[in-house]
Amino acid sequence: MREERARRDGHPDPAELLDFCAGRADSRLTRHVEGCPACAKYCDEQMRLWSLLDVWTVEPPAEVCDAHLLTRLQAAERPGLRSLLRGWLAGISWKPAIPAAALFAVWVAFTTPAPAPVPVHTVTTPAAQTVEAEQAASTLEDLEMLQQLKLQIG
Ligand SMILES: [Zn+2]
Repeated sequence: MREERARRDGHPDPAELLDFCAGRADSRLTRHVEGCPACAKYCDEQMRLWSLLDVWTVEPPAEVCDAHLLTRLQAAERPGLRSLLRGWLAGISWKPAIPAAALFAVWVAFTTPAPAPVPVHTVTTPAAQTVEAEQAASTLEDLEMLQQLKLQIG
């Protein structure tokens, strides 16, 4: 009993346990973790978490979707390119095409490929939510651009 209590007080601190998880433990630490269910459990949970993070890193959303979004985001980040496009669009009689263009924008917004099916624990990552938010913002910008175009022409 007394020995159990002494060991409990003598637990390595979490930083040392993380060293053990990363394979950087000295023999004293290794002996402690191997003989201490509480510390072994802590290390086991940490290593499971790390392996989940590894899986998450290795399986990003579909590459096609990434490339598509990247292109759109890059276009949105370059006002020069955007105003160039706007000028080009204004020089053309688009009036008959506007309803079709608006429909196309909506169609693009709803048919953009969703991220590939991934294990449940990766679906609700903050990164995936950010991508969706950025996608929505980009679509809104496109619609806004179409409205401005309509005002310029009409
Ligand atoms: Zn311990």
